[in-house]
Amino acid sequence: MTRGLGYGRLEAFMATPHSRKVTRIARRLKAVPHVAETGPVPVEELNPYRIAQEQFHTAARYLKLKPWLKEILIHPKRQLIVSIPTRMDDGSFRVFEGYRVQHNIARGPAKGGIRYHPAVTLDEVKALAAWMTWKCATVDIPFGGAKGGVVCNPKEMSLAELERMTRRYTTEISPMIGPEQDIPAPDVYTNAQTMAWIMDTYSMTTGSTALSVVTGKPLEVGGSLGRNEATARGCVYVIQEAAKVRRINLKNATAAVQGFGNAGAIAARLLHELGVKVIALSDSRGGIVNTKKGIDPARAFEFKERRKTVVGLPGTDRITNEQLLTLDCDILVPAALENQITLANASSIQARIVAEAANGPTTPGADRVLHKNGITVLPDILANAGGVTVSYFEWVQGLYAYFWTEAEVNKRLESVMVKAFQEVLQRSKQYNVDMRTAAYILSVGRVADTTLMRGIYP
Ligand code: NAD
Repeated sequence: MTRGLGYGRLEAFMATPHSRKVTRIARRLKAVPHVAETGPVPVEELNPYRIAQEQFHTAARYLKLKPWLKEILIHPKRQLIVSIPTRMDDGSFRVFEGYRVQHNIARGPAKGGIRYHPAVTLDEVKALAAWMTWKCATVDIPFGGAKGGVVCNPKEMSLAELERMTRRYTTEISPMIGPEQDIPAPDVYTNAQTMAWIMDTYSMTTGSTALSVVTGKPLEVGGSLGRNEATARGCVYVIQEAAKVRRINLKNATAAVQGFGNAGAIAARLLHELGVKVIALSDSRGGIVNTKKGIDPARAFEFKERRKTVVGLPGTDRITNEQLLTLDCDILVPAALENQITLANASSIQARIVAEAANGPTTPGADRVLHKNGITVLPDILANAGGVTVSYFEWVQGLYAYFWTEAEVNKRLESVMVKAFQEVLQRSKQYNVDMRTAAYILSVGRVADTTLMRGIYP
């Protein structure tokens, strides 16, 4: 939306108060894109990369980082754009566009998932890569940040087409990836099978089996017990910590979960196991609700396996994804895509805790509204860091070729997540800021310290 702002002007722009920024963008666009029932809604920045930069700058101001260090930390280290010619089942060829971005490797090899989605853009991948840098530093694991994406619609592709596309994408990005360089993992519409193809393709080109080139693999090819559940489990560990602080008894609590994939479906199941009443669920086709009796996530999972959507589950009413977000509940778990909670709906959010299983679901403008309204936002770089934490465990186990029990994985995950939560909470009290700003102060501070210690080459 701020297309046309050069980089030099961007920094000044980021430092401008939000209200003036909004007015300026509105003037630039000479239009108001959304109109809600209550009247015109302010325009806001929705480019995830610009949002990631704004979040970084907020923390940098508290840390009083020098301008040259900010310049280094804000820029992605490497960006690769590839064309992926793929033979389709009918014999025709399609060329998909793919990306791999390494944001920062000061603290260790680059780490981050691969997304297959028709709306993937380079800016989105750059934002997701930056968020990985700050996420790994928030939970203090020795990785930098990266992300990959392919512009495609996996729902319209056969398994064989997906395999051919994945193998060619892997070959195209192979100069960047490797167990010591950059380690991909699953993200939206990729899974353990995708990781097995990447591991196999990479291993074929090197001539030996490289278990640690990707994480999130199936157990049969060096995956870790507990990895599939790790993002959701980590999210639930920090929800439990936040509930203690907010004095919410989870046994009497209610939750709504947006997105019913790896992160959302398992988060719903784990919350249900803790006694939380899950009142609403959704996926890309829409949402379902039962405020009285709640929804059993296991039943919803079985239903989705058969019907490819949760919509239509017997005993539930249909709602939209937008309605789900504003339901009266204790815990809201956005577990789908970016920009779900914006200035357009932030003041209607009724949950007491928003736990961001998804990356980037809340805009900076919405963050300010939620904070003002006393809602605790557990930011993505903390709340969904369980996935990369167990990816780190999987990487270590692969390098050692020595595998742990699931109980051991979960115990180590819990201790990492609880420690990170406490460190973020401590920063939030120390600086009197919301949990996102606190997590950025913690993580940006860690990466800045490492960068200063290493020095700038040459
Ligand atoms: P997934 O592909 O397993 O599931 C995505 C789910 O979101 C699906 O149920 C899909 O139907 C739903 N969805 C898609 N578009 C939607 C929309 N517009 N509205 C509502 N629902 C929609 O993906 P995932 O791995 O669960 O990832 C979900 C989020 O969690 C992403 O933001 C991802 O970056 C983040 N995340 C995932 C992991 C991981 O380990 N998988 C780790 C950290 C963060």
